[in-house]
Amino acid sequence: MQLAIIQICVDARLDHNLIREQVSEKLANIHLRADSILLVNEIGGNFGQNFTKTLHLFLKEGADVIFCGVLHHDDCLAAKHKLRLPLEETRARIQDALENTGIACPIYVGSITTETNVLEWSS
Ligand SMILES: [Zn+2]
Repeated sequence: MQLAIIQICVDARLDHNLIREQVSEKLANIHLRADSILLVNEIGGNFGQNFTKTLHLFLKEGADVIFCGVLHHDDCLAAKHKLRLPLEETRARIQDALENTGIACPIYVGSITTETNVLEWSS
């Protein structure tokens, strides 16, 4: 099973299906394909236990993690309260978590326009 794991915020306005579709398009653009695109939540899209627990669960199932992403969004409550980590910091923490399990896969970052759920990758 080829897996992509995407870290996003808990915001209820984020439409998981629309985000999944756009992640799938991105994967196609870089010639990757995932059987499953998992969206994991933490306030602000910060790295957290949801990511690591999901990673470890699917590794037990023999999954092959082929892509990870971190997506911030505008009008974020966590950002307003200064609780959102910088994108690059979350990216680095995900990289550490992957390296700890011997995984080397691309980690992309990007942003979502909350109102439209349009995703823009910065890498
Ligand atoms: Zn948010």
